Amino acid sequence: MTAITKYLVIKRLAGDTITILAVKEYLVDNLSPSTIGHKYRISKFRVRGYVQRVMDKAKNHRVAAAIVKRVFPYVIDIDPIILRVSGKYLCLLCNQQLRHEQVEHHIRRKHKDLVQTLVSQIVSGVRKEVR
Ligand SMILES: [Zn+2]
Repeated sequence: MTAITKYLVIKRLAGDTITILAVKEYLVDNLSPSTIGHKYRISKFRVRGYVQRVMDKAKNHRVAAAIVKRVFPYVIDIDPIILRVSGKYLCLLCNQQLRHEQVEHHIRRKHKDLVQTLVSQIVSGVRKEVR
């Protein structure tokens, strides 16, 4: 659960909400990759790619779906720290300008503590619910 949560938290902090919605709508709402792709104007292969990244971190489809379903409301509640300004990306926490391909690396490296805190808050929140 931690690995999937971390993946989704980093996507959300990066402002990449489409990836999170695509994964959730595929695994939880059982929409097809082409329906999701059409909705967000991305290819169905990209949708499959996003889902695969999550599936790699779980034992099977059912487990992945259960985790994403539980974690989704918490993840979507996080405020992104990356703002997209005319094709460039600005980190609101350290005011650094980034290129698109640097964004996730930046979050992982410079805001590791924030990611860690959010992930453990979400994981313990979900575990409390389940009990
Ligand atoms: Zn930063």
